[in-house]
Amino acid sequence: MLGFSNGVHPKGRKTLTAGEKIGRGPEPDAVYVPLLQHIGSPAVPVVEEGQRVLCGELIAKAAEGLSANVYSPVAGTVKGVVGHITLSGKKADHILIENDRTDERAFLPPLADRSRESILARIAEAGIAGMGGAAFPTAVKLGTDKKIDVLVVNGAECEPYITCDHRIMLEFAEQVVKGIRLCMAACGADRAVIGIENNKKDAAAALAPFAENIRIKLLKTKYPQGAEKQLVYGCTGRTIPEGALPADAGVLVVNVHTALAVYKAVEEDTPCYERVMTVSGGAVEKPCNIWVKNGTPYRDIAAFCGGREDCARIVSGGPMMGEPVFSLKICTAKGTSALLFLNEDECVSKKAEPCIGCGRCVQACPMGLSPVFIERAAFDKKYEEAAVYGAEQCIGCGCCSYVCPAKRFLVQSVKLAKKVLKGWREKERAKNNGEGAEKNG
Ligand code: SF4
Ligand code: SF4
Repeated sequence: MLGFSNGVHPKGRKTLTAGEKIGRGPEPDAVYVPLLQHIGSPAVPVVEEGQRVLCGELIAKAAEGLSANVYSPVAGTVKGVVGHITLSGKKADHILIENDRTDERAFLPPLADRSRESILARIAEAGIAGMGGAAFPTAVKLGTDKKIDVLVVNGAECEPYITCDHRIMLEFAEQVVKGIRLCMAACGADRAVIGIENNKKDAAAALAPFAENIRIKLLKTKYPQGAEKQLVYGCTGRTIPEGALPADAGVLVVNVHTALAVYKAVEEDTPCYERVMTVSGGAVEKPCNIWVKNGTPYRDIAAFCGGREDCARIVSGGPMMGEPVFSLKICTAKGTSALLFLNEDECVSKKAEPCIGCGRCVQACPMGLSPVFIERAAFDKKYEEAAVYGAEQCIGCGCCSYVCPAKRFLVQSVKLAKKVLKGWREKERAKNNGEGAEKNG
């Protein structure tokens, strides 16, 4: 079994929801639909205050460049474009829609053919963005002009607690595989490999009857098995060089939920306006997997699932890579895979101690970095030094923080260094482009 180096084995805690069939989530009185639910530029509103919209109606169009369409998740009345709090702590534009609970629906027109161009155009039209959490616009990814021979499908779901992809593979096996075939047609791959951690053998068995000529690869249960480079290596044996993308190695990666969204867009004319989410943790009454409409306030989910008073921390996403939730006014988006309500026992103590030089963070890092040195460099604001230690290669997996006996904020420091370096690189590029333009002019 091919496996990546290092990584960690956190407690899975998946039994809380793995046996829970996907149900319907809350029906919010109002949704705040973010215009930026994807990597790239915010979509541009095409509706006006007071306008009635149907569930599945286009409300914001993809901007120029990297962006994605946004659809209404409810039937109701547009109350306007409002600034609303996001996970980053900053406000961003959202379309506020009052739900009239009629559930009247709009659909995309039936797709005339299944050519590569038509499938790509439909994926773009439906506003699909990577539903594993990255939220990269899927049509842009699949429409690459690089030669792709293998599509790797991410069914690893290595983050603790989260089981929405597992349930999707069990309950929508045929649709997921049909979605995979559509993605293959869209990127020109003639092979596909579905990577699934070997703690989900039932999911592999559910997909198998539909997956003729598609390889299902059981992978070791180890975190971060679902990270792009680690998954590509586990499924194909190919390594992606530093600074390169999977497409440079002839590979594209899509998540199983994204494949289901592609199926729904092409075969059921349904755009992307809702997703399956895991709601879990020791401080929630009803851990579950539910369909949640984009733009649903977290407080509606907390009320629906019974978030308890002994909740010590709320996390959007998984405990390793997720973001802390400081306001239940924040709303779900296309990439929101989970909402966790954790009790005191499930949270790590926040008090950081001095580093004891044990080297565990180095041993755990799946990218072969030295988080301890990057942290020190970041603390001293020596970002060039952080770059030398490979800060820009960090995938934010959190393995370093997880193993650190001193509970140092390693992942946060490395991410900060990466962010600063990204800003520097962008400034450098802009400066060079400007100079180039001056010379040419
Ligand atoms: S430095 Fe980055 S890639 Fe390495 S373990 Fe920490 S978070 Fe993961
Ligand atoms: S794991 Fe923590 S204590 Fe050990 S070397 Fe790394 S930063 Fe220091």
